[in-house]
Amino acid sequence: MGIQSIEVKGILQKSKIPGANYVINPYVGCVHGCVYCYARFMRRFTAHTEPWGTFLDVKADAARILDKQLASRRKPLREEVFFCSVTDPYQPPERRYRQTRKILEVLLKHEVPVSILTKSDLVLRDKDILRQFHGATVGLSFSTVDDRLARILEPRASLPSRRIRALRELRDAGIDTWAFLSPFLPGVSDLDAQVAALEGAVDEFGVEAINTRGGNWIGVEKTLAGIDPALPDRCKTLSRDPAFWKDLEHRARRLGGEHRMTMTGFYRH
Ligand code: SF4
Repeated sequence: MGIQSIEVKGILQKSKIPGANYVINPYVGCVHGCVYCYARFMRRFTAHTEPWGTFLDVKADAARILDKQLASRRKPLREEVFFCSVTDPYQPPERRYRQTRKILEVLLKHEVPVSILTKSDLVLRDKDILRQFHGATVGLSFSTVDDRLARILEPRASLPSRRIRALRELRDAGIDTWAFLSPFLPGVSDLDAQVAALEGAVDEFGVEAINTRGGNWIGVEKTLAGIDPALPDRCKTLSRDPAFWKDLEHRARRLGGEHRMTMTGFYRH
């Protein structure tokens, strides 16, 4: 694993993600190495030739740069800042580099609202600081709730069972939690098991379909073929069938109701 420090001029970026006007990515790359990661396109903007998931650039001095960026604004920033769009804020090296924590401290000082999405229970480390924000939200994402399958699809992320425990603990601490069933892989992800496992851990969840037309499909196809040679075709055929998604959306809404949760978004590509 190659980890290096890089210099950046700014850390707060404008975003086009629905519901998030600003985004912060404390790292370039993500060592979780999920086979379906769409953020692998980021390699194009770096000098990295190594496979996605095997390198990480740590944005040096990010917290100080952000402090300067926020202090120099004419009006204080009161729009929500989202962590992260092309990396995971709580991937294992965060334990050592504490980039996310240091950035959160700056955002708290400037009273900027935050929203976090991660695949790691390391987020629990920052429960103390997240509780001090007004209305911080924390989402954990799941392509599956099967720990064994997750080890294949998301080799270095926290196991789903640990993520669910993290959601419960955050919720007990009074932090707003939600789950993102993303990416949903037809023929692989199990909606019934996912929604049932999340009961009591979240009030809201969203679903996002796998994008089989993106560059990330090559890795997914290879991995699924290693599980069952028939799986890639099945997954691809179902994901291009509008009736499949219509039925899934309907079932997700119904299952959510049965397990005392609301589905707040259903995203297709
Ligand atoms: S955790 Fe997110 S950013 Fe990291 S490899 Fe997985 S999908 Fe990509």
